[in-house]
Amino acid sequence: MATEELPPLASDIKRVVILGGGIAGSLLAKSLQFRADIFLVDPKEYFEIPWASLRAMVEPSFAERTVINHSDYLTNGLLVVSTAVNIRDNEVLTSSGRWIAYDYLVIATGHSDHVPKTRTERLNQYQAESEKIKSANSILIVGGGPTGVELAGEIVVDFPEKKVTLVHRGSRLLEFIGAKASKKALDWLTSKKVEVLLNQSVDINTASDGTYQTSGGETIIADCHFVCTGKPIGSSWLKDTILKDNLNGHGKLVVDDNLRVRGLKNVFAIGDITAIPVSLCRLSFFLFLIAVIYLFPITLSQNETKPFLGNGYGQLLYFAHVKQRGYKSLIV
Ligand SMILES: Cc1cc2nc3c(=O)[nH]c(=O)nc-3n(C[C@H](O)[C@H](O)[C@H](O)COP(=O)(O)OP(=O)(O)OC[C@H]3O[C@@H](n4cnc5c(N)ncnc54)[C@H](O)[C@@H]3O)c2cc1C
Repeated sequence: MATEELPPLASDIKRVVILGGGIAGSLLAKSLQFRADIFLVDPKEYFEIPWASLRAMVEPSFAERTVINHSDYLTNGLLVVSTAVNIRDNEVLTSSGRWIAYDYLVIATGHSDHVPKTRTERLNQYQAESEKIKSANSILIVGGGPTGVELAGEIVVDFPEKKVTLVHRGSRLLEFIGAKASKKALDWLTSKKVEVLLNQSVDINTASDGTYQTSGGETIIADCHFVCTGKPIGSSWLKDTILKDNLNGHGKLVVDDNLRVRGLKNVFAIGDITAIPVSLCRLSFFLFLIAVIYLFPITLSQNETKPFLGNGYGQLLYFAHVKQRGYKSLIV
């Protein structure tokens, strides 16, 4: 593959290459762009608020506000529309064959998803999904995690007359949260006449003419279906790299208290790609953000970062502050 020469770095400015333009990577790039030489690598030209996507499927105009070109907020950094495929000690290879040198690398490749490259294509996709929902009398949703439950909720709120069936393999909805919350979600959906089938699965490939068979022997008739069974962790590309031994059994990156990938001085990971429990993961991401905002100006010049997980109370105050301002400021 060709190696593209990039301009040499000014000696006093550090290059931070951020892989992944989801919530974690985009927010970090936006926050750091006037303090470092930022490269954001993402396969799409836009950032998207994930938890707005289900509303956008029933109300496509909503996506006008929640799908945001990276160029709208990244005014002082470079966007590389490509996928990271390999890593060396001081550079990253993209699928377009470009090696990008870094002083600091931040891996924020959360989950991988097959979505269109441009914002316009993404908005058109929402339009098409909305048409599909509107024209159907009956809809099958496969998967009772947050995506399936939220999609069912959005559909019945806007289209209470449609017959919605939700099939979930597990014994309760939203298994990652408490049983009480699961039951609340189930009761709410049932009250809106959603038929919820638990402990069953559906093989979409064997469906024909709108007839679906569940593993429990039930037959579902539906005009269309949506598969909401979760996206794979965005780490398969790391399995043949120098970071392969840093992946845990779930394909997540093991990081230390500074969100630094174990054993590597200048490689960090944030967001869903990290092997940190979900609740702590988000807190850790915001703490990382605090670290880069408050500590990087000092530490970038010293070629190291300082631990920042020591003062819990102060961090929590910052956490609340940054969380409030960070998310809101990304919605334009
Ligand atoms: C329906 C739904 C509702 C949710 N609701 C909430 C909520 O209410 N509250 C909450 O806190 N969380 C919620 N979440 C979870 C939240 O969205 C995730 O925790 C968050 O998106 C994780 O951000 P991330 O940047 O780590 O990963 P992601 O958002 O998955 O972003 C990863 C990015 O990396 C890119 N990428 C992948 N592989 C590569 C590669 N090799 N090279 C370059 N780029 C790559 C992807 O294209 C993507 O842009 C919800 C999620 C969903 C789907």
